[in-house]
Amino acid sequence: TFKRLEQDGKSKDELKEMGDTFNEMIELLESNYDKQKRFVSNASHELKTPLTVIESYSSLLLRRGKERPELLEESLRAIHSEAVRMKEMTEQLLLLAKHKEQWNIELQELDLVQLAEESARAFRSAYDREVNVSAELRPVMAHTDQNKLKQLLFIFLDNARKYSDEGITITVERHGDRGRIRITDRGIGIPKEDLSKVFDRFFRVDQARSRKTGGVGLGLSLAQEIAAAIGIVVALDSLEGVGTTVTLTLENVPVEGKK
Ligand code: ADP
Repeated sequence: TFKRLEQDGKSKDELKEMGDTFNEMIELLESNYDKQKRFVSNASHELKTPLTVIESYSSLLLRRGKERPELLEESLRAIHSEAVRMKEMTEQLLLLAKHKEQWNIELQELDLVQLAEESARAFRSAYDREVNVSAELRPVMAHTDQNKLKQLLFIFLDNARKYSDEGITITVERHGDRGRIRITDRGIGIPKEDLSKVFDRFFRVDQARSRKTGGVGLGLSLAQEIAAAIGIVVALDSLEGVGTTVTLTLENVPVEGKK
């Protein structure tokens, strides 16, 4: 091909440039391929673990269930909790695999304070955990997707719940000409060296600890994708043993805000 192109009058520099671009493309394809393989392997591993638990408890029940009815409660509990875990993970995987065009984003003007209050109420009744909403101004209007923003808040509230025991606070405010939402917990926090990794798929600070709390390490990477799709920038501040604050800055201008 290069000989033909040279005959066609392309200079050596142009050919070198094309060759370099070609090599870069191959490298990119290879690294994407590696990433995809790693992703499939991680996902399969994470699905296999709960399946193994379900398989062993159900075969225990089949073998001994009739003569030892006390096994029933324990086994069903384990099977149920692993099934819930698998269902959550599959839902997260499906969302991550979906193309952004299929996300049906609907932008509208809405009050962030009201949205935070609704999310807090829903979260309180689902988990029986205290969530305070603090807002000096109201309304704080923003142009965003209501359902996606609620989904985003839910992921961060759920992490605050899993990694802390005390109350969680959602603060809604105006930052310059932007709307800002912060979710703060006083939990175990994230070690400094892991802060940049927590948004990676399947990353968990402590595998054993996270397994107990039910996570598989997909929440934050999903949150990052949702945020990007609706024009929100996410920042994470955390101090080990002190707590974590997630700051969501909305790119759009709030139109009003009264004290
Ligand atoms: P998981 O499902 O394991 O919670 P995430 O992707 O949501 O996965 O979070 C990745 C990891 O980041 C978690 O396993 C946990 O170690 C850490 N993490 C996330 N949020 C918090 C938080 N609020 N406090 C402490 N650690 C957190």
